[in-house]
Amino acid sequence: MVKIIMLGPPGAGKGTYATRLAPKLGIPTISTGELLRAARDDPEIGETIRKYQDSGELVPDEIVIQILKKRLEQDDAKNGFILDGFPRTLAQAKALETITNIDVVINLDVPEEILIKRLSARRQCKKCGAIYNLLYLKPKVDGICDKCGGELYQRDDDKPEAIKERLRVYHEKTAPLIDYYKEKGIMITITTDRIDVPPEEQVEKIMQKLKEKNLI
Ligand SMILES: [Zn+2]
Repeated sequence: MVKIIMLGPPGAGKGTYATRLAPKLGIPTISTGELLRAARDDPEIGETIRKYQDSGELVPDEIVIQILKKRLEQDDAKNGFILDGFPRTLAQAKALETITNIDVVINLDVPEEILIKRLSARRQCKKCGAIYNLLYLKPKVDGICDKCGGELYQRDDDKPEAIKERLRVYHEKTAPLIDYYKEKGIMITITTDRIDVPPEEQVEKIMQKLKEKNLI
């Protein structure tokens, strides 16, 4: 039983590591982004969520917590879970504590220079949404999706100005969580110092640290 939060700036690889770690631990990865997308069709709460999102507003924390609580109560999360993309603020971290106890926070520490290089090299398929990276996850044919033949493009939020803004928001709102969880004594930090570290190598390091802490 282990309840994990993946913490780290955009481009640190939270989703990449979470999806590789989860099957090793036999627990699900829970992304609040995906939960909210799915909840748009929910008969009870969907209309409220669409109202916020379609007007460009963030869905309020209490609604996200309500959806998350429901998800954590499902059978597959009984033995633990990895939270990807939540909490992003101190207020969210405190709200989370009202619905569950977290065992460990995995803090991905990556220099800004590497984050910027990685994010600028991201490409997405227009048709199926598959994500590529020109540095280490290249399509077989330049500009074309391996899976569906769709055209690859650079998302607006992966362009230089947008990347700077995403990192600024991270430093302002999310980075304070590092101290918060450090003080609670439940944080492990995984440092990436080269751009081409294979995800498997980092996942092994995470597994090692979880074992050292007797969490698995
Ligand atoms: Zn595609």
